[in-house]
Amino acid sequence: MANSDLLSAEIGWLSLDVDGVLTDGRLYYGLKGEEIKVFHARDGFAIKLWQQAGGDLLIVSGRHSDLVQRRAEELGIQHVYTGVEDKFKLVQEFCRQNRVRLSHVCHIGDDLPDLRLLKEVGLGICVSDGHPVLKAHADLVTTTRGGEGVLSEVVEKILTAQGLWDKLIQEMLKR
Ligand SMILES: [Mg+2]
Repeated sequence: MANSDLLSAEIGWLSLDVDGVLTDGRLYYGLKGEEIKVFHARDGFAIKLWQQAGGDLLIVSGRHSDLVQRRAEELGIQHVYTGVEDKFKLVQEFCRQNRVRLSHVCHIGDDLPDLRLLKEVGLGICVSDGHPVLKAHADLVTTTRGGEGVLSEVVEKILTAQGLWDKLIQEMLKR
C-alpha cells in the first residue's frame, strides 16, 4: 500500500511513545535526582489540532514519569500509561476495552520496545533518528527528529491525507 493510502486509512487514534518521540530521548536529572524532560511546544499545538479534528490519543511509555502525567494533563490527554513493559499487549488490551480497531491506530516510536506495536497497528511511524531496525519496519519515517516537533509533522500528514488539514487552516485564518 502506498504511504498516502496508509495515512488516510481511517486513523483516529495516535499512540505516542514519550522518550525519543516527544523528547529527544535524553534523560536529564537534577542534583536531587529530579527528572527534567524537554517537550516541544509545536507538538502541543499539533495535539490540540488533532483533537479538534476529532482524533484521540494515548501515551504509552516504558518509563515511569510524573512529568509525563503532568504534560498529558496540560494537553488534555486522558489515556496515559507509563512504566509499560509490553507496549503491544497494553495497546491491544486498550483497543479491546475501548472498541478501537488496531488498524485505526497510528503508533509513533523511536526504539525497539516499539517494534511489535509499530508492526501491528494500522500505521507505524518511526522518527528520523530512531533505531535502524524500527526505521526498516516502519510504514513511514519522519523527517523530524525526536523532540523537535515530530507530532507537528505527523498530524499535518495524516490530516492532509484525510482531507481535513486545509479546512483547519482556513478556520484559523478566520479567527
Ligand atoms: Mg522511546
